[in-house]
Amino acid sequence: MNNTKPRTTPYAIVLGIAQDGGLPHCGCHLPCCTPSWDNPSLGKMPVCLGIVDPVAQKSWMIEATFDFKTQWHMLQTTSPLGSNLPLNGIFLTHGHVGHYAGLLQLDKAILNSGHTEVFAMPKMTHLLQNNLPWKALIDQDNIHITQLQTSKIHQLSATLSIQPIVVPHRDEYTETVGFMITGLHKKILFIPDIDSWDQFPAIHSLLEQTDEIFIDGTFYDASECKHRNLKSIPHPFITDSMKRFESLSHQKKQHFHFIHLNHTNPCLNSTNLAHQQVYANHFRIATQGQIIELS
Ligand SMILES: [Zn+2]
Ligand SMILES: [Zn+2]
Ligand SMILES: [Zn+2]
Repeated sequence: MNNTKPRTTPYAIVLGIAQDGGLPHCGCHLPCCTPSWDNPSLGKMPVCLGIVDPVAQKSWMIEATFDFKTQWHMLQTTSPLGSNLPLNGIFLTHGHVGHYAGLLQLDKAILNSGHTEVFAMPKMTHLLQNNLPWKALIDQDNIHITQLQTSKIHQLSATLSIQPIVVPHRDEYTETVGFMITGLHKKILFIPDIDSWDQFPAIHSLLEQTDEIFIDGTFYDASECKHRNLKSIPHPFITDSMKRFESLSHQKKQHFHFIHLNHTNPCLNSTNLAHQQVYANHFRIATQGQIIELS
């Protein structure tokens, strides 16, 4: 990442690449997490994307994770406006806790943010409006919810827009969306959580329309899920996704990034063979701090 050159055009920044629990993971003392317990600089934050429009002097975040405070700080300090960069909204994908727990940082006991815009789908809105402690954020006027509608484009600034795309995922609590972010000449597709590609045939046309792709790469393959019932946490394995999308051009694959990596995923370690296999197949693993130009 180049933090020294001031950016004058809209961009997105990857603020986290891990699954909800991050790396290291709560309670894990296996080889996947011991190096990052010993050396916190090896840690990875949960999946989160920042969007900045330096012309409009605005910014947004997709997801409010357990590391919200660090991710917002990173969004500001890497931007041309530094700590003067306002946060103009938080877009939520769904009601699994690692994707919205960070909203609690806005509470009057902490930031007392005052009227932060939160953009959420109807069931997610219902969850926040009807359950403590989220309801308290609304009652305190620390968050204000704008309801999103399926596929309806929301204009962010003169040159940026965002569109929620409903995807199949364990929808016990809320619906789940990914987002398409559109700049003047570029589109980013962000789908951090999905159950299977079979249930989402629209992915192929979405990939065609998109320049940069950030897609669920929770698990590399079945070998890392020995202790979990996969039916209760379905995700397409990276190995399966690489096979499914193998006919994409090499150039397209170089803009296809796996994100939302579980702490057990060997691709979190760039020296691991699995990580190297992804690159040998021309795909990519998202990196924290990665910047994607949107103009
Ligand atoms: Zn998740
Ligand atoms: Zn671990
Ligand atoms: Zn989820």
